[in-house]
Amino acid sequence: MTVRKQTDVVIVGSGPGGATLARQLARSKAGWGITLLERGRDWRNSPLYGTYPGAMLYTDRASFLYTREGLSIVRPLMLGGATSMYCGCAARPQAWWRERYGIDLEAHAEKTAAELAIGPLPPELRGAASTRIAEAAGELGMQWQPQDKFVQPERATAFDCGAKCMLGCRCRAKWNAAEYVDDAVAEGIDLWTGATVDKVLHGGGQVFGVRGRRGGRTFVIEAGIVVVCAGGIGTPLILQGSGLPDAGRGMTLDTTSMVYGLAQHEGIGNEPPMTWSYPDDGLGVMFSTLIDPWLNYPVAMLAKGPGYALTWPRWGRTLGVMIKLKDEVSGGIDRKGRISKGLTAGDRERLGRAEQVARRILRQAGCDPETLFLTPLRGTHPSGTVRIDSMLSRDLETAVENLYACDASVFPEALARPTVLTIISLARRLADHLANKSQPINANDAGSLR
Ligand SMILES: Cc1cc2nc3c(=O)[nH]c(=O)nc-3n(C[C@H](O)[C@H](O)[C@H](O)COP(=O)(O)OP(=O)(O)OC[C@H]3O[C@@H](n4cnc5c(N)ncnc54)[C@H](O)[C@@H]3O)c2cc1C
Repeated sequence: MTVRKQTDVVIVGSGPGGATLARQLARSKAGWGITLLERGRDWRNSPLYGTYPGAMLYTDRASFLYTREGLSIVRPLMLGGATSMYCGCAARPQAWWRERYGIDLEAHAEKTAAELAIGPLPPELRGAASTRIAEAAGELGMQWQPQDKFVQPERATAFDCGAKCMLGCRCRAKWNAAEYVDDAVAEGIDLWTGATVDKVLHGGGQVFGVRGRRGGRTFVIEAGIVVVCAGGIGTPLILQGSGLPDAGRGMTLDTTSMVYGLAQHEGIGNEPPMTWSYPDDGLGVMFSTLIDPWLNYPVAMLAKGPGYALTWPRWGRTLGVMIKLKDEVSGGIDRKGRISKGLTAGDRERLGRAEQVARRILRQAGCDPETLFLTPLRGTHPSGTVRIDSMLSRDLETAVENLYACDASVFPEALARPTVLTIISLARRLADHLANKSQPINANDAGSLR
C-alpha cells in the first residue's frame, strides 16, 4: 500500500536550510500546506543525545563515513541536521556572495543574529588555554577575534561545554535548527520524521512531488513546489536519483585539519570549542581553537599511525589550532553515495603554509616543538555539490520548474567559514521569493494527476 498525500510545498530535510524555510514560509503564508520530511528522528530528549553511543546511532555509518581518499566526514541524520552536533559557531555571509553572485544575504543574517542573540561567549567562558592560543597568535601579529556563537550560556541549567559538545549539546545552551522546526510545527506545518525521500517526481519540465519510504511503506506526496534541503551529500543523491545527472559533480568540503601540541598546563579539551578564530582570506583558510572529543581522538589519530593514537593520554594537556581550507571544487559524489575529494596542488600548497603558521602559534603558546603534528584531514562541511550558476539559478531553482535546493549543497564555492548563518540567510531569502508567488501552486495545478 502506498501512502498518498497532496500539499502545496514539500521540504526535504530539517537542517538549517529546511528548518528555516519551513518556519519562514509557514509564518508568511498561513494558508499554504507545507510538509517537512526528515529521514532521522528527534533525539533531543533521548538520554543518549550528546553521548558517544548516541553519536554513533544518529550519524551516517556510525561516524565511520570516509571519502575514497580516507577523509573522515561526520554526517548527522536527525531532526535539526548537523546543527545537532555542530560547534555553534556563526559567521556573517561573506561579501563575495553579493559581489560575485549578486546574492545579498546581509539583512537576513542581521535579522537572524538579532533574533538568536548571536555573539561571542563572555571572556570568562572562552577558556584560559584557548585564550592563550589567541594571545600567542597576537604576539605574532595575527589579531584573533572571539568567535561569534549560536550559544547562550544563560539557556543552560548547568553550562558545561567542551569538545564533547560536538556529540550533541546536552545543556541546551546551543541553538539547534530543530527549534525552528518546533516553530514551524506550531504554525501548522506537517512534520514527518523517519521519512526518507529517494526521488523527486517531475515531468514536462515541471515538478509534481516526491516519493520515499517511511516505516517500511512507500509514500508519494504531490506538491506544486519541492525544495530539497537534504544537505551537501543528501541533496545531490536525491537529485541524481531523479534524473539530474550533474548533481554531485564536484564538491567543496572546507577540508580541515588541526595541529596539536603538548602544553605545559591544561589543554583545550574541556573548554568550549572554537572560542577564538582568525580568517586569513589571502591564504584562503580560517584558523581557530579546536581538539577532537576525548574518545574520538585516538580513532581519528589512528589514520595517521599507531604512534599518534598513542598520544591519547596527553589529550588533557593538548592545544589545537584548526585549519579550515577554502578548497577548490573537485571530486564529487556518485549515485552509490561514494565520495571522492582529493586536494588540488594549490590546496596542498596553501595547507602546507597554514600548517607552518599553526606550528609557530603553538610554539609561541608554549607547546613543546617536538610534540607538534598535523592531524589527518577531515571533511567538515560537505557542500557545493549542486552549485549556484552550475545547476541552480540565483533563486536556487533547478532546470525543473518549481524544484529548488536550499542547503550547503548550493554554495558556489567553499566558505572556509562556519556555514550555518549563511544557510539560514539563503533559506530566509528563498522563503521571501516563494512567498511572492501570488498563490500556492498545488499539486493539481502543476498537472500531477496526468
Ligand atoms: C561536528 C560538526 C561541527 C560543525 N560546527 C559548525 C559550526 O560551529 N558552525 C557552523 O556554521 N557549521 C558547523 N558545522 C557544519 C554545519 O552544521 C553544516 O554545514 C550545516 O548543518 C549544513 O546544513 P544543511 O541544511 O545543508 O544540511 P544538514 O544540516 O546536513 O541537514 C540535512 C538534513 O536532511 C536530512 N536528509 C538527508 N537525506 C534525506 C532524505 N533522503 N530524505 C529525508 N531527509 C534527508 C538529514 O537527516 C538532515 O537532517 C559543523 C558540522 C559538524 C558535523
